[in-house]
Amino acid sequence: MVKKTINTIPVIPNILNNFLISKNKFHKNTYFLQIKALILPFITIFVSNRLQNERNKMSKPTIILGIESSCDDTSAAVIKEDVILSNVIASQKVHEKYGGVVPELASRAHQQNIIPVVDQAIKEANIKQEEISAIAYTRGPGLLGSLLVGTSFAKGFSQALDIPLLDINHLQGHILAHFIQQDETKKTATPQFPFLCLLVSGGNSLIILVKDYLEMEVIGQTIDDAAGEAFDKCAKVMGLPYPGGPHIDKLAKKGDSTKFKLSKPQVDNYNYSFSGLKTSFLYLVRDEVKKNPNFIEENKADLCASLQQTVVDILMKKLIKVAKELKIKEVALAGGVSANSALRQAFLDLSKKYGWKTYIPPFSFTTDNAAMIAITGYYKYLNKEFSPLTDTPYSRVNNVLK
Ligand code: ADP
Ligand code: MG
Repeated sequence: MVKKTINTIPVIPNILNNFLISKNKFHKNTYFLQIKALILPFITIFVSNRLQNERNKMSKPTIILGIESSCDDTSAAVIKEDVILSNVIASQKVHEKYGGVVPELASRAHQQNIIPVVDQAIKEANIKQEEISAIAYTRGPGLLGSLLVGTSFAKGFSQALDIPLLDINHLQGHILAHFIQQDETKKTATPQFPFLCLLVSGGNSLIILVKDYLEMEVIGQTIDDAAGEAFDKCAKVMGLPYPGGPHIDKLAKKGDSTKFKLSKPQVDNYNYSFSGLKTSFLYLVRDEVKKNPNFIEENKADLCASLQQTVVDILMKKLIKVAKELKIKEVALAGGVSANSALRQAFLDLSKKYGWKTYIPPFSFTTDNAAMIAITGYYKYLNKEFSPLTDTPYSRVNNVLK
């Protein structure tokens, strides 16, 4: 047994071996033999434990804990390689009565939610804390106060578990949500690189060229409001609850999308603009309500359908232009607004027309969630792109997503 150890770990035992075996005169010294008998079992145990740990490290699967707190959803998720084990989301109801996210309240709610949410995610994943390989957290973009809660928690937990940290760009997360697998035995098709991704959410409207898992370039983006913001603000004008996007989607199903003509922007390149649409919607409603106080109630479904169709037309027009010019036929949707049924339908219809291969994420991965942060963390972990404790959150991003 001692010999085996000496052969596998050359440095310490060889010194010891030379010292103990080659110097024959010491062999006759019983005092020394006693020491040898005492020390060798300990060295053997120490060395074999180290070997076992190394073997375990090499064979055990990569398990990432993801933490998301960029806006008003506190979320934690666990993934094993690319397969989701749990994804817990605590949505903050506190903002509803204000018709939008109140940053100060969001930070406080994250503080209350973060520990129970992480605890539940680990329990639902049926893993032990010691099995987690690394912690991935959303570093930005988002509300700084909200991001600080997730960032600080992730740093503290990674120190406690003595595992690496991975800082994640929230937008990359939305895009890489396409690579989350729900069933290890039935893996679904994922986009092929390079592909285009239309990322539409409450805070962003972007067309992104995805060259590789972690190599992405912003091709076009909104110069003012995001598509989700346009939905939410117009919903507020109609007295609908926050966030208004899903309510507009539901009401639009019963409406006539051609009833009201709303302004469409003329913006250069591949960029978007939604502030003009928002203003034209506001003016239309304001002018009509002056004539008929029941205008909104009587026309709600048509207003929703017309607004929704205009947003979808604006989004798809630029996406088609980019796909044609870059000659790319792999096209994906991402972000909270990709839950919109009219956008999904338009996306599928156009894909038939232009021969695109399209990818739409499951509903659970469209709005903010930590599973998308965990999968991005997984690819960063494979690249060994760990982050230091000195990293701080950021509120905005530039044209290269990192
Ligand atoms: P962010 O990350 O920017 O906070 P999310 O990705 O969480 O945004 O998406 C939230 C946005 O998605 C909100 O603006 C919401 O109104 C919008 N949204 C969600 N579901 C729908 C839907 N079915 N139709 C239109 N918009 C939707
Ligand atoms: Mg988001």
